[in-house]
Amino acid sequence: MIQINENFLKLSAGYLFPEIGRRVRNFKEQNPQADVISMGIGDVTQPLAPAIVEAMHRAVDEMAVQESFKGYDDGGVGYDFLRQAIVDNDFKARGVDLDLDEVFVSDGAKPDTGNMQEIFGTDNVVAVADPVYPVYVDTNVMAGRTGLANDIGQYEGVVYMPALAEHGFVPLPPEQPVDMIYLCFPNNPTGAVATKEDLARWVAYARENKAVILFDAAYEAFISEADVPHSIYEIEGAKEVAIEFRSYSKTAGFTGVRCAYSIVPKALKAYKQDGTAVDVHPVWKRRHCTKFNGVSYITQAGAAASYTPQGKKQIQETIDVYMTNAGLIRESLTKLGYQVYGGVNAPYIWLKTPDGLGSWDFFDRLLQKANVVGTPGVGFGPAGEGYFRLTAFARPEHVREALERFARL
Ligand SMILES: *Cc1c(COP(=O)(O)O)cnc(C)c1O
Repeated sequence: MIQINENFLKLSAGYLFPEIGRRVRNFKEQNPQADVISMGIGDVTQPLAPAIVEAMHRAVDEMAVQESFKGYDDGGVGYDFLRQAIVDNDFKARGVDLDLDEVFVSDGAKPDTGNMQEIFGTDNVVAVADPVYPVYVDTNVMAGRTGLANDIGQYEGVVYMPALAEHGFVPLPPEQPVDMIYLCFPNNPTGAVATKEDLARWVAYARENKAVILFDAAYEAFISEADVPHSIYEIEGAKEVAIEFRSYSKTAGFTGVRCAYSIVPKALKAYKQDGTAVDVHPVWKRRHCTKFNGVSYITQAGAAASYTPQGKKQIQETIDVYMTNAGLIRESLTKLGYQVYGGVNAPYIWLKTPDGLGSWDFFDRLLQKANVVGTPGVGFGPAGEGYFRLTAFARPEHVREALERFARL
């Protein structure tokens, strides 16, 4: 008899985006003339940078001739030309020294943040922020690190750390010891960033508790303020306790191309049950190379082009488009009396719903009166109740139109 992995049956139904879809479809059926603008889903809209497109075209041509044809990317960890560009541009430029082989190129930060837990024991206690990017939680449910979900969708055994306005939406380390800590800065969904002091507090906690920090920096490229850390490795001692995830998805519009990377430092340790320290790097390398066979050469050539002078300039121009949207959303909504957060170092605006409305009530009001779709904060966790996420990834003309409609709410 084939048995199902019952951990998967613990997952509460993927509720948020299907429910948004259902409400939008209903509305459109009843209001076929309505021109609905989406500021809901976190996907990019601007085309790839020309320097990236050219590099990918050249790579295709190389694959077409015998002399430069390429098969497997040896080991699947990424070509040296890309890993060198990563080490030099994303880290050395910020005072962080990494070896090439601490970089693992992959097809996405969602798979990486989801897969990384596999190399850690199933008895580890997981801590996540509330509200949270659901991937961190669901993949640990699948792995059997949790019990069942309660009626507000929180799983037994997971430590939820409320990210509250009074702490700038940066959760505080928990009172009890935990083992695997997921942090995401700049944050999806709140748009918050952690200061050096915030991250130093987390690194100190992880060192004290022999825990690991899984640091998702998918939105690093959107940081605009000078004193905000871009990498957790800017904090002294972080290499012994942290893994970092980056992605070209939001940075370079690669959500449909697929390229990302993880940093697993050689100094990082985990422990056997008897307390013996073990190097994490070779364990992840074994996992990565056993279950993954590399990102296409064409894609890696495109990712590397994001580090050329032209590429850098062009992807910054695209980020500027999104961040101009974000600035406009912040400014217009503030003028209208909304309490807004985020949108300065992240493409997300996190707003307090007006009149004490619940997140879903505000969703319905916005859809019905303004024909604008956003994301109810409570969909990311109970501490998101009373908040609402707008993304700055919409096209500028749609953002302007949406804001005019907000004014008429
Ligand atoms: C968009 C996003 C990612 C990127 O995932 P990819 O698989 O690289 O597209 C990672 N983390 C968060 C929090 C995100 O919002």
